[in-house]
Amino acid sequence: MIKTKIQQTLVIVKPDGLIKSLTGNILTALSETKLKIVGAKILKVPKKLAELHYGDLKERKPRVFPSAVKYLMGEFHTDRVLALVYQGPDAVANIRKICGATNPEEADPVSIRGRYGRINSKTGVFENVIHTSESVKSAEKEIRLWFQPGELTETAFKTQKIARTEEATIWA
Ligand code: ADP
Repeated sequence: MIKTKIQQTLVIVKPDGLIKSLTGNILTALSETKLKIVGAKILKVPKKLAELHYGDLKERKPRVFPSAVKYLMGEFHTDRVLALVYQGPDAVANIRKICGATNPEEADPVSIRGRYGRINSKTGVFENVIHTSESVKSAEKEIRLWFQPGELTETAFKTQKIARTEEATIWA
């Protein structure tokens, strides 16, 4: 019998996914995995977060790094993304499969990137509408970067309690 592992993985509906109103289609496609959503939020991506998220891209694909950061920050579409954490058996590989290859022209045509992605003819950026973690290790790094433990209904990684007082905006 093949053993399956319960994992968490990060999904980001990128700014082109939002501007093209693809959120519903993407979530429907991902629901085929029967995985559970344990965190979700809409946010404007600060430069620091985008740079940390693509930290390894800087070494792997230095020429792509600056435009990948701009793309995630919404400079080409809209300044928001939808970030989600999915949990369940082999979540990383299952979501990655439905997501499809990085290059939308090479992605399986029925994958999310194959269906909805394009290569921007002006910038050359692979506008592939969705990000998802490519390994268990990067999933942990990315979930810890994008979410605080209190924003998830279930936590898979070590947490600690600290006391802190800081300025915050609350309802008046
Ligand atoms: P993935 O997002 O599939 O994990 P990478 O981490 O290698 O792939 O790349 C991050 C993002 O940078 C991609 O999703 C894509 O938007 C963009 N990108 C990657 N490689 C290229 C490329 N050769 N040309 C244009 N854009 C690219």
